[in-house]
Amino acid sequence: MDESINYPYFKTRLEKRLKEITEGQQTIAPVELDQSRVGRLSRMDAMQRQAMDQATARLLAKETQRIRTALKRITTGDYGYCIQCEEEIAAGRLKADPSVLTCIQCARAAEKS
Ligand SMILES: [Zn+2]
Repeated sequence: MDESINYPYFKTRLEKRLKEITEGQQTIAPVELDQSRVGRLSRMDAMQRQAMDQATARLLAKETQRIRTALKRITTGDYGYCIQCEEEIAAGRLKADPSVLTCIQCARAAEKS
């Protein structure tokens, strides 16, 4: 019913995003606590930043995982279909985020649970 999914287009976008993530992670250095001049506040500040970096790293790890799965599904020809219900994922949804693996219905159901 829909025009067929443009695999090369999504593959390029996924690979580009994967590269961004891997290169970006190298620039997130662990927080150095400067022991010589850490007051209580700057120390807390540094720890807070570190916690945020860790949260970001976890999100990026999840996204990396999704992208790898999506790329694998491109090679097997399953890309663009929901991994849960196997329905087609809306083209607009894929364009907004090529790493999505579920259709909007399944994503909404997952959010509720
Ligand atoms: Zn679904």
